[in-house]
Amino acid sequence: MPCDTDAVSPREIPATDSTKPTATPLGLYLHFPFCPARCPYCAFYFVVGEREARDPYVSALESEIERMARDPRFAGREVATIYFGGGTPSLLEPAAVDSLLRRVHDAFPVGTAEVTLESNPDGLTEERLAGYRTAGVNRLTLGWQSFDADRLRALGRTHSVDDNVRSRQLARAAGFENVAVDLMFGLPGQSVSDWRREIEAAAKLGPDHVSAYELTMEEGTRFFRRRGELALPDEDARAEMFELAAEVLKEAGIERYEISNFARSGHECRHNRNTWRSGDNLGIGASAASHVANTRWTNVRDLRGYMDRIAAGRPVAEPPEVLDEETWAAEDLYLGLRTVEGIDADARLARIPADARQRLRSKLDAALENGWLNRDGPGFRLTRRGLLLADSVFEEILV
Ligand code: SF4
Repeated sequence: MPCDTDAVSPREIPATDSTKPTATPLGLYLHFPFCPARCPYCAFYFVVGEREARDPYVSALESEIERMARDPRFAGREVATIYFGGGTPSLLEPAAVDSLLRRVHDAFPVGTAEVTLESNPDGLTEERLAGYRTAGVNRLTLGWQSFDADRLRALGRTHSVDDNVRSRQLARAAGFENVAVDLMFGLPGQSVSDWRREIEAAAKLGPDHVSAYELTMEEGTRFFRRRGELALPDEDARAEMFELAAEVLKEAGIERYEISNFARSGHECRHNRNTWRSGDNLGIGASAASHVANTRWTNVRDLRGYMDRIAAGRPVAEPPEVLDEETWAAEDLYLGLRTVEGIDADARLARIPADARQRLRSKLDAALENGWLNRDGPGFRLTRRGLLLADSVFEEILV
């Protein structure tokens, strides 16, 4: 039985040496690691099958919510966004989502929160989606990934192109007014014109938000081991695909607001925005990541280990990382620069000592000279070229 009455261990919440007030709204992330199959590109923490562990895992999540709500760093803080991520949260029964959300509402003040649930397009029904809506989910993400049957198969996905189309219709029928979709480009065998067809097909279905991610080879995945055999598009083609996404989506009224994220006005993801604005985030569940001001920690990446620790009243967090002022400020710049609105460098750097401020300003000025950033008074934002080379730009700022 999970233990939900234990006092919080002093080691459970790492020390934060920040002076930043913690009375700001909080993002709450709940990780549901169960998946129907193993996608060969995926480096998230997930398990396949393990049906019998799902209910005990939900109970463990509920215990951790209560545990963290008693911690002085989180007690009484308003939860502004709730995000069910995975894994495949749409394998959760609506009753389980309802129970988890009730537990969150009992444990924390919750305002008019954005409540997101990630889903796979197959396995959704109108009844199931209506159940999520009744439970309080008001934002649904559909993991479409591709509009090509062969590519979906190559990605190890269990759904079809028809499922993509149907999932949009079902979401609309269930009354979701905020529907986000995930797409991937730079896939094996994919040409620029293939990607144009796919993104146009997606835009035609009228999503409110699109995340378009380039496939990356993550260590430990099957794709990484086979990367020499995959016919991946070259760098120029990938750059063209990146720009094409913005062009096609803009025509459909869906504008870029972050490197990989696009939305109709008013449908930007509040949960991720909180992260890009360096807001605090509490991660619940196996492998879930948290950050409070300059302290970051991750829960154990082990389903059984997580549940055992919760049941025994033991900490589930790995040792924390506490960033020094300069690294924290650099990370803050990096996160803010991901967004199209950019950063106010003066405001962001105001809290750090003058010598560190000078070093970071020099890095911003160098990026400006390289043509990676635009400047408007204290405001900096990525140029078109900077967007394409964002990883290199951020490396320069962070080192
Ligand atoms: S991509 Fe999503 S569905 Fe596939 S294994 Fe990873 S978490 Fe599971």
